[in-house]
Formats: sequence, structure tokens, C-alpha cells
Amino acid sequence: MIEVDLHLHTTFSDGTLTPTELVNLCASRGLKVIAVSDHDSTEGLPEAMAAAEAHPDLTIIPAIELSTDIPGSEIHVLGYFIDTSDQDFQNTLEGFRKGRHNRGELMVEKLNSLGLNISWERVQEISDGGAIGRPHIAQAMVEAGYIEFPKQAFDRYIGRNGSAYVERPKLTPEDAVGLLVKNGALPVMAHPTYSQTKSDRGDVASLRKTVENLRERGLEGMEVFYGDYTPDQVSYLKEIADDIGIVPCGGSDYHASGNPGEPQPGTVGPPMSTVERLRAVKSEISATR
Ligand code: AMP
Ligand code: ZN
Ligand code: FE
Ligand code: FE
Repeated sequence: MIEVDLHLHTTFSDGTLTPTELVNLCASRGLKVIAVSDHDSTEGLPEAMAAAEAHPDLTIIPAIELSTDIPGSEIHVLGYFIDTSDQDFQNTLEGFRKGRHNRGELMVEKLNSLGLNISWERVQEISDGGAIGRPHIAQAMVEAGYIEFPKQAFDRYIGRNGSAYVERPKLTPEDAVGLLVKNGALPVMAHPTYSQTKSDRGDVASLRKTVENLRERGLEGMEVFYGDYTPDQVSYLKEIADDIGIVPCGGSDYHASGNPGEPQPGTVGPPMSTVERLRAVKSEISATR
């Protein structure tokens, strides 16, 4: 029985369920602890917390997901127990969201120059004030009839090697870990290896070394029980997390994306002992400040 899902998105970034819809869904699937982890935004958390009041058995960990660049690829870093009142941190997030906005517009221009009639206005409407992401552009392409489901946009146009891909200013993984440590949050490396359903995502190169380096900066965990990972992937990652002594985390990374085979809340996640370990680390950190 899956009781924990520490990776979930809402309409405040590129998920398609509102925080209330997401929380109600998670409660109905029997989840006991969830982390709402939008890209570059904590703005969905108040609504999520309010919705959880109707579900006394469900606890929400306030979280975030930051994207960072490494040569030829990216690393995403989750932050758990975010202090949302940290104004410096909020200003930084706002800068990231501006970067997403500008880059989205550039990608739409590229699609237009490739002859695809996608409107930037429509993409903004779809994002509905949330942090703009490539899934919003993909959704506009589905609506316009160019593709059947969002993943095809990544495979054909807006994936890392796609013809309409545009970079945006991103952090290094070290910077992201540093920002989260400064906030008092626990940094956790997201989806460290290949995912079938997010096909433009590869393995983090020299994973063990990379994790060891980030560990020295304050990394506290790594996703292990993630999305569509196979038992082989899970045991490979679990061994690395155990060897290095960081907490094995995970979750569905649910976006309600409309992609076939998307991992659902309640089907994948870490054991409750992961939450207990994260809480213990968090109180240790709080006590030393
Ligand atoms: P962005 O933050 O704009 O770079 O977009 C990244 C988001 O796009 C991820 O968080 C996923 O939700 C989604 N994504 C990335 N790669 C794929 C893929 N190959 N197929 C479907 N969705 C993807
Ligand atoms: Zn996303
Ligand atoms: Fe991610
Ligand atoms: Fe995610």
C-alpha cells in the first residue's frame, strides 16, 4: 500500500489539476503524506493546505522543484519543508518564472517559424498565471491538432534536441542546493536516471560522484521510488543512496498531463520511514540554527 508521494505538480506550474483537485485525488487514493512540489513556485501551497483540512489523515509537506543545468543535460532539485515566508527566496523564484515566460515566448516563435500556428496568447491562457513550462506549449499544440498528446511535442519539437527547443537561464546544481540550504529546506535530487515516460531525460552522468559532491553542499536525499522506474532502476538508485547515506525519496511526479501511461498518485512512492527520516533531518537542522 502506497502512503507517500513526494513529487506532485499543480496548475501553479505545469500540472493540470488545481491544488484542491490534486489534494482531493490524493486523499481518495489513500495517501497519507504528500509533497506539493511545483516548478519555481510555492504559490499553490496555501490552497493545498486549505484543501487538506477536509482530510485529517493527509499531511502536506511544502515543497518546490528547481531546474538546473549541467553540460548537455539537466538536474532537477526538490526542496522539502520550504520556508515560504523567506522573501529573498521568493524574489529568486520570481526571477526564474520570468525566465520561463521569456523562454516560452521564444519557443513559440521558433514553432511559428517552423510553420506551426501556435499562439503565445493561448499558451499564456493555458498556463493560467502559473510558472510557464514546456507542457503548456505542448498542450497548445494538442489543441491545435498538431499532435495527439503532449509527449509527442517533446519527441518532435521541444525536447532538448528538438527543433524548437530554447534554453533558459538556469542554476548549477550546486547553486540550487545552496539556495535551498539557505532557505532551511532539504535538497533532494529528482529523477536521477532515464525515464520512459519523460523521454528527453537521460541518466545523470557519473551519478555517484555528482551525488557525493552535492552531499557535501547539503544534499539530503535522492529520488529512488520514482514515476515509471523499473525494479532494476530502483535497486540501483537505492544502493547509491544507502552507500552515500542520504534519504531515498520519490513520488509519481504527477502532472495530470494527458500522456498515456502517466504514473498515478498512489501507485509509486517511498515508504513512511522516508518521511520519518526527512522529518528527523529537518528538526536537526532547525535545532542547529
Ligand atoms: P520545462 O520546465 O519548461 O523545461 O519543462 C519540463 C517539464 O516538461 C517536466 O517537468 C515534465 O513535466 C515535462 N517533460 C519533460 N520531458 C518530457 C517528455 N519527454 N515528455 C513529456 N513531458 C516531458
Ligand atoms: Zn513539470
Ligand atoms: Fe523534474
Ligand atoms: Fe516534477
